[in-house]
Amino acid sequence: MTLPNHRLTDTRTTPRRKALISGAGIAGPVLAYWLNRYGYAVTVVEKAGAPRSGGYPVDVRGTALEVVRRMGLLPRLREAHIDLRRLTFLEGDGSEVASLHPHTVTGGVAGKDLEVRRGDLTDALYTVVRDDVEFLFDDSIDTLDQSGHGVDVTLRGGSRRTFDVVLGADGMHSRTREMLFGPEEQFHHYLGYRFAVFTMPNTLGLSHETVMWNAPGRAAALYAVGNDDDVHGFLTFVHPEPPSDASPDPQAQRDLVVRVFADAGWEVPGMLAVLRDADDAFLDAVGQIRMPRWSSGRVALVGDAAYAPSFLTGQGTSLSLVGAYMLAHSLADRDHTEGFAAYEHATRDFVTMNQALVGKGGATLFPTTPQALKERNDRLRHLSAMPSGEGRPAHSALTLPEPASSS
Ligand SMILES: Cc1cc2nc3c(=O)[nH]c(=O)nc-3n(C[C@H](O)[C@H](O)[C@H](O)COP(=O)(O)OP(=O)(O)OC[C@H]3O[C@@H](n4cnc5c(N)ncnc54)[C@H](O)[C@@H]3O)c2cc1C
Repeated sequence: MTLPNHRLTDTRTTPRRKALISGAGIAGPVLAYWLNRYGYAVTVVEKAGAPRSGGYPVDVRGTALEVVRRMGLLPRLREAHIDLRRLTFLEGDGSEVASLHPHTVTGGVAGKDLEVRRGDLTDALYTVVRDDVEFLFDDSIDTLDQSGHGVDVTLRGGSRRTFDVVLGADGMHSRTREMLFGPEEQFHHYLGYRFAVFTMPNTLGLSHETVMWNAPGRAAALYAVGNDDDVHGFLTFVHPEPPSDASPDPQAQRDLVVRVFADAGWEVPGMLAVLRDADDAFLDAVGQIRMPRWSSGRVALVGDAAYAPSFLTGQGTSLSLVGAYMLAHSLADRDHTEGFAAYEHATRDFVTMNQALVGKGGATLFPTTPQALKERNDRLRHLSAMPSGEGRPAHSALTLPEPASSS
């Protein structure tokens, strides 16, 4: 679908439309890149002091690969590809169940799909847009007022400005969403797990591989993205009570993890020792954001803020990339009302299909009962060590429209 040129903003005669994006994670810079290309004057406000580098590995698959290709980033991201070679599952006593190619379990396609450190992706996205767009780091939106002809915004840093549209790309616990639609609880669908992820020493000498220990309702994994001295430690467990607060006390969360894994074997005691003092530990509830609408007035949401699918699907990054592309495309030649409607219309089925993957990933990686774990292990023992190479239909269920002509 190529959009007709005559409807695009002519920057010689009309002032550029102004867009404010909250969040410079994944969706934010992609949206900034394409909106800038479509003639918008773009400002990105990010609460962190700089683009966040480092971090856990993320996947770019299916339709999302085409987004990064169109931004000229495919060669750079291929260089950064982690190329995980092995995923080994262990019994509760530490003995091996099966050692497989990771794509056998995740539905990834070898040689095509990408797995990169989140920081490598955010750096690449930031680099292609930073010279064309205004970035305000260490700042965030304080208030939004849509009662006038645009959105009047005050920033925490003190400035006041007016924008034609404001776009919330501020992640799972989006404040833009809260300001617009109210508390997170209404939209957060808790999936019954909690998790902690942190960096720890690579004492087992792991290389390009993940080792995962399971007991019913509990899993511990060590994730070596290369031959580094450090690995990502990952602990997840069943916890039926939903979080009572969108940002619970970090120390209480650490204590909970330590209690749940107190009697666990394998490398878990060492992992808990690191977690207690880790300064990069990230703990959260596993859940999805599901919303009946993604916009209100001149403000819309994108990425995890609107439709976080949870890491159980492995599709959060890909949804953010595709959603940002689709939102910008929808706004290229339309006003906000038509544009936001077109964005939802074209993107919602893709989001729904990918959020529905959650049952599959969760059941394989984190069986909750002894019977389910036994069945999972039997299945793994009989799986072919190599993946089929086809990928999941949901990953490629949307065909991107061609970029609108640049103004
Ligand atoms: C432990 C873990 C493992 C994961 N593993 C995978 C995986 O294997 N594969 C995969 O595809 N995905 C994975 N994900 C999900 C993936 O990281 C997210 O889906 C993706 O980062 C969402 O991108 P986003 O741009 O919507 O939000 P984010 O990446 O969360 O970016 C939001 C940005 O907004 C900023 N921000 C927040 N609040 C404000 C505010 N009030 N004002 C200004 N700025 C603000 C933040 O600092 C951040 O820079 C994982 C997530 C976690 C937590």
